[in-house]
Amino acid sequence: MRIVLLGAPGSGKGTQSQRLMQREHIPQISTGDLLRAAVACGSELGRKAKAAMDGGRLVEDALVLGMIRERLRKPDARGGFILDGFPRNLAQAQALERLLKTLRQPLDAVVQLEVEYPELVRRISGRRTCADCGRVFNVSTSPAQSSEPCAGSGAPHRLIQRPDDNEATVSERLRVYEEKTRPLIEFYRKRGLLRVIQAQGEVEEVTERLEQALHAVPRARAPLRRAPGKAKPRRAAARRAPKRSAAAKRKRTGRVMRTAAAAAVTRAATRRVRRGPRGGSRRGGARRGR
Ligand code: ADP
Repeated sequence: MRIVLLGAPGSGKGTQSQRLMQREHIPQISTGDLLRAAVACGSELGRKAKAAMDGGRLVEDALVLGMIRERLRKPDARGGFILDGFPRNLAQAQALERLLKTLRQPLDAVVQLEVEYPELVRRISGRRTCADCGRVFNVSTSPAQSSEPCAGSGAPHRLIQRPDDNEATVSERLRVYEEKTRPLIEFYRKRGLLRVIQAQGEVEEVTERLEQALHAVPRARAPLRRAPGKAKPRRAAARRAPKRSAAAKRKRTGRVMRTAAAAAVTRAATRRVRRGPRGGSRRGGARRGR
């Protein structure tokens, strides 16, 4: 399955795509996570992305697209993937469409997670992430349980608040979402890929709605891969005999009939020669020859 989860910051794209990843055994590709990892390791990409992220703006398309191209070419993405937080504007959506065409991995569905504005703000301000395993919690709706240790460290989760989850940055992120990302709903609706689900309520309920929305989506098959330099296989239609026009068929039938008539004349002439000048049966002729 190759899908995109669309939605505003705080709509639960991350939580739902993590659950989907575990269920479907396909990678969750989050541009936000990839960018945060680049910032944390101090790479050039991370240095370039940091200012935009801290301000709640979108990181430059060229940087994000380079990152996505590299990620989607990895072998684990061949059997399907979940894109979380990408694409985020029309240029990215168009670039993704071109890239997936080249990879022969078209999208199966795009799911829009709808949540009302006050709920988005409430969720974002309560969001905490475990610094060790990356799991996302919410202080009011889904707090970390002390009885459940971190899968990464084995110790209790080390909860941190994302630096861009502060009030000023959150309102800018929501404004950017409305202006740049919302138009993607129409973009994917026109392509017949869009499904919209209500993403308010319990996490479990939203997961169920997502499952239902994806119910009819065909499971992704591994794309056919040609060995480098090998010729493109001929399509079945090309191997079949070419279609003939009615005139060509008549011409061909006439030719066949003329050929059959000529053969009959030849056979009659052969019989006459075998019978000889006096005539007689073929059997007689045959006897004569013994
Ligand atoms: P959220 O959806 O809650 O805003 P993300 O983790 O998806 O969180 O993104 C965090 C930040 O990373 C964004 O505010 C933006 O600066 C940057 N970012 C993530 N994905 C993209 C993208 N596809 N294009 C540009 N910037 C992005």
